[in-house]
Amino acid sequence: MTKNMTLEKYSMGVGDRFAHQAGAQLRAFMQAAREGADVIPVWNKSNREHQIIGSTPASVRAAADAAVKALGWTRPYHVDADHIRVDTVDGFIPCSDFFTIDVADWIGKPAEAEAVKALVDRHPELVGRHAIAGIEAPVETTRAEVEQMASKYLLAVQEAGRTYRHITQAKGEGRFITEVSLDETDSPQTPTELLLILAALADEGIPVQTIAPKFTGRFNKGVDYVGDVAQFEKEFNADLAVIAHAVKQYGLPANLKLSVHSGSDKFSLYRPIRRALARFQAGVHVKTAGTTWLEEVIGLAEADGLGLALAKEIYAGALAQAEELCRPYATVIDIDPRRLPSAEAVNGWSAGEFVAAVRHEQQNKAFNPHMRQLLHVGYKIAAKMGNRYLDALAACEVTVSKNVTENLYRHHLKPLFLDRG
Ligand SMILES: [Zn+2]
Repeated sequence: MTKNMTLEKYSMGVGDRFAHQAGAQLRAFMQAAREGADVIPVWNKSNREHQIIGSTPASVRAAADAAVKALGWTRPYHVDADHIRVDTVDGFIPCSDFFTIDVADWIGKPAEAEAVKALVDRHPELVGRHAIAGIEAPVETTRAEVEQMASKYLLAVQEAGRTYRHITQAKGEGRFITEVSLDETDSPQTPTELLLILAALADEGIPVQTIAPKFTGRFNKGVDYVGDVAQFEKEFNADLAVIAHAVKQYGLPANLKLSVHSGSDKFSLYRPIRRALARFQAGVHVKTAGTTWLEEVIGLAEADGLGLALAKEIYAGALAQAEELCRPYATVIDIDPRRLPSAEAVNGWSAGEFVAAVRHEQQNKAFNPHMRQLLHVGYKIAAKMGNRYLDALAACEVTVSKNVTENLYRHHLKPLFLDRG
């Protein structure tokens, strides 16, 4: 009998659109480990990305295994089938040991009235006034409110169960890590809703180890948080309190933790997150996939010459197809087209000017978050270049990998897991 696969307390999702940066990413985790932060890398790639790029799930596993072997990483690591559903998971099953079951599309679709009633009947503890350790004011919910929440989320939870059982049948129980994601939807979940969702996931028999709610505010791709940081901090703390409570109350896995999607570059949230984790002695999973692709573009530009020319070409291509590229990411980007420089203007830029516009340094006046977000969703343009892009990555390897490692270590791992105060 082998032990159930268990995700460590601190983990970070890293993504690598073109499967070339796993080593550069791993070096950032090794540096964090040397400095005293034990953070586990999880390479993730969604079905959406695979489709846009034309890659296969097996390539993610191969790149992760190769990097781990080459660099001698001895701690655990995982490969996450990100944002899968029952109809898209099969290709990921042989090579993933972490599954992010995305049920956002079922939120708000009303469940059967009978099933809703049964759920609320099973959980009288959710109705009325109850205290949760770590939340100042006692939570108060009427039966009608609980029924309303149940009706909003039950179908999504049932779908998570269906997907979980589908994966279990193929891989076996305890052989993989389960995350449930609810983030790609319009309205954030309140801590009270999260509690009900966790109760229902426990009823469904899903040993969920990470859950990705939609938090308050905008989590746009590759740029900082847009919203009320104080409100985020309050809700993040309340979510941690709810998770600790649900683990005890419903027998969910003891290591259950929050997963922060589109977590890269949310610099204004890292200190509040770190404070909350310390307060609750909680773990966290932070997904940072897209930030590495942007570092590739920055590294290409920094190499100047051929690399810079290619970076400009990617931007021009993304600008020409902006509408199509942005469509699948509508809920996670905010681009003002009037703030995007023209392709002609960018063609005249030096390496330094291009890097300054794209690198995420908010205090730099030349930084352009609109351009950065467009490039974020523009990886399809690079994918279409095929070997021309991959050859440029190889030619500019030094500047690319330096940017990838430094960005992950200095701007993500360090502020989240190492900085004090
Ligand atoms: Zn997500």
